Amino acid sequence: MFKLLSTANPKIQKGTKLGYLSFILHLAPADLSGKETCPKRTAGCTAACLNTAGRGGMFKRGENTNVIQKARIRKTEYFFNDRAGFMADLVEDIMRAVNFARRKGLTPVFRLNGTSDLAWEKYEVPNHGKNIFDAFSTLQFYDYTKVLGRKVAGIPNYHLTFSAADGNDADVAKAIEQGMNVAVVFDKLPTEYMGRPVFNADDTDLRFLDPKGVVLGLKAKGRAKKDTSGFVKRMIPIAVA
Ligand code: SF4
Repeated sequence: MFKLLSTANPKIQKGTKLGYLSFILHLAPADLSGKETCPKRTAGCTAACLNTAGRGGMFKRGENTNVIQKARIRKTEYFFNDRAGFMADLVEDIMRAVNFARRKGLTPVFRLNGTSDLAWEKYEVPNHGKNIFDAFSTLQFYDYTKVLGRKVAGIPNYHLTFSAADGNDADVAKAIEQGMNVAVVFDKLPTEYMGRPVFNADDTDLRFLDPKGVVLGLKAKGRAKKDTSGFVKRMIPIAVA
């Protein structure tokens, strides 16, 4: 039904309790497609990326790809090779998503960087607007980003949460200074981090509803549980055998 968007992530669907239905775009992260989609990725986040969470990480024995990974690569190649076609399909998908959500009595919301970190504010939508947020100015969009200083201040319908990782502490401090909320992956959620109260961000993915001035705590999942790069902030010391 949708060419580019999906609604499959179980955490995102927790938002339906609050009346929202999230539609997410999953591209191939890092340089998996041959093109970089995460300009500020780190070794730790690349290794622990949610790209391999859920069905995206289920591989047949002896294989290191699956239909989900191939679809993400195909979509990313489409984005880089035929921008006008991609944007036209995205517009159609968003219109379909709006009707789909409204038939269910839910408010549609959109996260375009499900597994990428692209500056969507830069990409024009031919015949519709200077970017996708302008083309759909009454709809809410949101994302996580590791790129500091994105030019989104004048875009009221796009909410960004800064994303902490291994080795980007200086950017985290600047993001906090600039008033952004920061998402941090922990082994166990503390009550406070870098002088800010920690808010449990695993309850829903609806970051635009979060209180301001908090750290959004996420519990390490999948491969991230074994992270030793510093991407996961450890509150419990690792036992040394
Ligand atoms: S920046 Fe985000 S999407 Fe990209 S590799 Fe890191 S965790 Fe994955």
